[in-house]
Amino acid sequence: MTLAQNDRHEVCGLLLGSREEVDEIVPASNVASDPARHFELDPIVLIAAHRAQRAGGPRIVGHYHSHPGGLAVPSATDRANAVPDGSFWLIVGSGDARLWIASPMHDGQVQFAEGTLEVA
Ligand SMILES: [Zn+2]
Repeated sequence: MTLAQNDRHEVCGLLLGSREEVDEIVPASNVASDPARHFELDPIVLIAAHRAQRAGGPRIVGHYHSHPGGLAVPSATDRANAVPDGSFWLIVGSGDARLWIASPMHDGQVQFAEGTLEVA
């Protein structure tokens, strides 16, 4: 899969499928005011995906975004914005991609647990 569009901007999108398998990625525009450092999924894409899910369509299991020139690990901003809902966070860094799961800690804070990523 090719996720790059502008290598100085973070790219982002949704992951659809199940807990076991991501079947589909849906690229979304990054509408953050500072797209070189942050990402914000285009709400039009988000709303359409939620609407399709409610109508029995593919399940939204998480999203992906890139860290241009950075590591494929959650940043301080990612941690601050994450919700401990068990969703997948696929982070594409320079040279690799890693899957993280936003899991709840006992105090309700978010903890990123690394998942296994097998690209088929
Ligand atoms: Zn990030």
